[in-house]
Amino acid sequence: MQSVKAKLDESFSVVIIGGGSAGISVASRLVRYLDPRKILIVEPSEKHYYQPMWTLVGAGQVRKETTERDESRLIPSGVQWMKKFVTEIHPEENFVTLEDGSQVRYQFLVVCPGIQQDWNKIQGLEKSLGRGGVCSNYDYKYVDYTWKVLQSTMKGRLVFMVPPMPIKCPGAPQKIMWLAEDYLREKGVRKSCEIHFVSAPETIFGVPRYREPLERLLRERGVHAAFGKNLVGIDGEKKIAEFVDLKSGEKMAMNYDMLHVVPPMSAPDFLKKGPLVNQAGWVDVDKNTLQHVKYPNVFSLGDASSAPCSKTGAAIRKQAPVVVENLMSMMKSEGLRGVYDGYASCPLVTRKNRCILAEFGYDGKIMETFPFAQNKERWSMYLLKRHVLPRMYWDFMLKGKG
Ligand SMILES: Cc1cc2nc3c(=O)[nH]c(=O)nc-3n(C[C@H](O)[C@H](O)[C@H](O)COP(=O)(O)OP(=O)(O)OC[C@H]3O[C@@H](n4cnc5c(N)ncnc54)[C@H](O)[C@@H]3O)c2cc1C
Repeated sequence: MQSVKAKLDESFSVVIIGGGSAGISVASRLVRYLDPRKILIVEPSEKHYYQPMWTLVGAGQVRKETTERDESRLIPSGVQWMKKFVTEIHPEENFVTLEDGSQVRYQFLVVCPGIQQDWNKIQGLEKSLGRGGVCSNYDYKYVDYTWKVLQSTMKGRLVFMVPPMPIKCPGAPQKIMWLAEDYLREKGVRKSCEIHFVSAPETIFGVPRYREPLERLLRERGVHAAFGKNLVGIDGEKKIAEFVDLKSGEKMAMNYDMLHVVPPMSAPDFLKKGPLVNQAGWVDVDKNTLQHVKYPNVFSLGDASSAPCSKTGAAIRKQAPVVVENLMSMMKSEGLRGVYDGYASCPLVTRKNRCILAEFGYDGKIMETFPFAQNKERWSMYLLKRHVLPRMYWDFMLKGKG
């Protein structure tokens, strides 16, 4: 699929902002019901990434190139693609403005431009990232540097931090910590290494069923854990990370040899400035129907939506069919029947070949798939994460089947 040029006042049945996990999943389902030429995806990037695999890239288990595909190969046949940023949304008049000033009209709008990673909110991070032991699994460019640092580590202090919520995949900051700990143990250097988990959230996991085994693992594996502390600055030359205690405001400096950073995140700036969002900047939708609370021809899903679920690809797998069902009902002037129950899942990789598969819905309701206790470390769940979920993503979810 080649991207097309925006013509002033061109009109589409459905315009989708963002061709990421959510945008492609929705488009692939919509083409079953609508003329694909009347569907437009506005997506500036030529590449699409299977981000959940970056956890295993950082631990040296997978090459990062396998997580990247051309956007053009994923856009369903016939669906139009404009390779541009949306800069403004005008829901009263049903059009969006693109970065070149052109306007595109829509009957229905699906808003899913993902979450913004605010690297600049941690002082000194941008100039330290990718060298001197400062790494992050949250950026394709640097994800393999995590593995380089781990490989060269024989001793010293490794610090893994978690920023304030919300972030995408809240479990990912600890997954790389567990994988690093396991790797150092296998390499025979664990005793010469100090591992610190420093978290802004007050607990290691929100849902008690999974929190308890994780807390036990912290104790058993000798991880120094501190909660309620936020990373605010890095001195890359001196290898010092500065944290602030979120209750007392007290500052705490920590030397590191390796520092795995997850940036604070927020809604994309163009959304925050626009008319569709709640106070926190997320697209303000009904948490069950995913329809906008004020504009009935607008829907939102994925990381940019206000649905109070865990921001994950797993959540999108359940949200996309709901958005499409309700959007089609709106087109036929019928009542909305699709209901999203808050489902999300988090494959918590705890060792190089073990995983706890957390699955839960709104208010922490347990929604496990398998007939065994999923809050235990299992090899089978690791195989699911490593081999089955990627196939489900590329071959089913993005093709509108899963
Ligand atoms: C390290 C890591 C580990 C993860 N692990 C897991 C996991 O184990 N399980 C899981 O389910 N999820 C996991 N996730 C989370 C998952 O990848 C995201 O929740 C999911 O990709 C969000 O999909 P989305 O479509 O909302 O956003 P994205 O997939 O990020 O797509 C958003 C798209 O919108 C585009 N865009 C941005 N701004 C504009 C604009 N102004 N105009 C037009 N387009 C725009 C972007 O270019 C992008 O292509 C992980 C993420 C990371 C980073």
